[in-house]
Amino acid sequence: MVSYKQLGLVNTREMFAKAVAGGYAIPAFNFNNMEQLQAIIQASAETKSPVILQVSKGARKYANATLLRYMAEGAVEYAKELGWEKPQIVLHLDHGDTFETCKSCIDSGFSSVMIDGSSLPYEENIALTKKVVEYAHQFDVTVEAELGVLAGVEDEVSAAESHYTKPEEVIDFATRSGCDSLAISIGTSHGAYKFTPEQCTRDPKTGKLVPPPLAFSVLHEVEAKLPGFPIVLHGSSSVPQEEVDTINAHGGKLPDAVGIPEEQLREAAKSAVCKINIDSDSRLAMTAAIRKHFDENPGHFDPRQYLTPARDNMKKMYMHKIVNVLGSNGKAE
Ligand SMILES: [Zn+2]
Repeated sequence: MVSYKQLGLVNTREMFAKAVAGGYAIPAFNFNNMEQLQAIIQASAETKSPVILQVSKGARKYANATLLRYMAEGAVEYAKELGWEKPQIVLHLDHGDTFETCKSCIDSGFSSVMIDGSSLPYEENIALTKKVVEYAHQFDVTVEAELGVLAGVEDEVSAAESHYTKPEEVIDFATRSGCDSLAISIGTSHGAYKFTPEQCTRDPKTGKLVPPPLAFSVLHEVEAKLPGFPIVLHGSSSVPQEEVDTINAHGGKLPDAVGIPEEQLREAAKSAVCKINIDSDSRLAMTAAIRKHFDENPGHFDPRQYLTPARDNMKKMYMHKIVNVLGSNGKAE
């Protein structure tokens, strides 16, 4: 058993309370390799932003659970080396599917876990979440739960259709499960194809898809029922069109990839939404830089040659999100 406190990590309790009160949101960036982690830590250290390092079950499988845990420990030390005296870094399990997965993460140094019982019947979701909460709270680990179903594909999580969270259920769910934060469904979705062309309108000038707006009415109803309670948005990449265009201009094929417009995320960050999950934008930033590099430098084969611009491009994206979308810069001085 390793406590996250020994690793220099923090749980989400205090940072969420501050974020809700301060009208900003904490970035939750997924990672599964060294370059992503370096870029996240560099961006967070430079902007002094609290940050949530997110690991999905698929990422644990890809990178190895032991290695990822030590990478997070290394991230804290790296942040200090970069001049961030008191780094506020959370290591969080994204979409934990069973009690056992959550327990294994808690036992190996995670400071926060998500138990995703959203596909279960309501009462079973409460029972499973409660079981995880009871275990996690013994070690001061915070727990995110989910109510409502998000569409799209994210590692091993997938659903064809989304179902908005029912505001009338949130008080009962939060009270009985004891969760520390709640992911709700208001129209965001996983992956780089968040909406089908049929769900969108098309900008006549650019030919690009314009996605339907998020269901802010649901969010506001949830906020009214649970004042000050930390709300989480999954699937909140914006799918920057310049990255998609770069990918497509250099041999890629991502037709009609579309995300959540940043102005809507900015609005959400000012509300009780205190954690915004971003994964696809990092994948796109990395892929765009690598494709461009290979196209322009066909003779290169040293991974450092193409991973350096990839890392720089991800860092730029992370800093942009922190400063211009979430407003978390300077909140962890
Ligand atoms: Zn998710």
